[in-house]
Amino acid sequence: MEYRNVLTTCPYCGTGCNLHLQVLDGRLVGVLPAKGHVIADGGLCIKGWNAHAFVHDKDRLQTPLIRKNGALTEASWDEALGLVAESLGKIKAERGADSIGILTSAKCTNEENYVLQKFARAVIGTNNVDHCARL
Ligand code: SF4
Repeated sequence: MEYRNVLTTCPYCGTGCNLHLQVLDGRLVGVLPAKGHVIADGGLCIKGWNAHAFVHDKDRLQTPLIRKNGALTEASWDEALGLVAESLGKIKAERGADSIGILTSAKCTNEENYVLQKFARAVIGTNNVDHCARL
């Protein structure tokens, strides 16, 4: 039996509490608060205490899905990302960059939100960026 704790940041909101993921034999089995962390200070809200629950959930999507002939069909990441890139390029060419908007999430890290706004501005060419905390 191999057990370890992995220090990380809670994925559920922008408060950014630190927590320890409890890993038993390579499987995520629970969460412990990070004592002494400047935000969490040894506590977590109910979402944080259950931050591990979705990881091994049987209903979690494991692969991208693409709708083909009306039915969702499993696809590779290359196929799915290729379709997204092709579709965004087509929309931009036909309707302009400002017809596209990017919605980010409090469940993303600061770094992920930074990358998403950079993607909107530098790749797509639009300032249409918003965040779920404002919705
Ligand atoms: S433990 Fe609660 S308050 Fe802290 S980051 Fe997670 S969801 Fe937010």
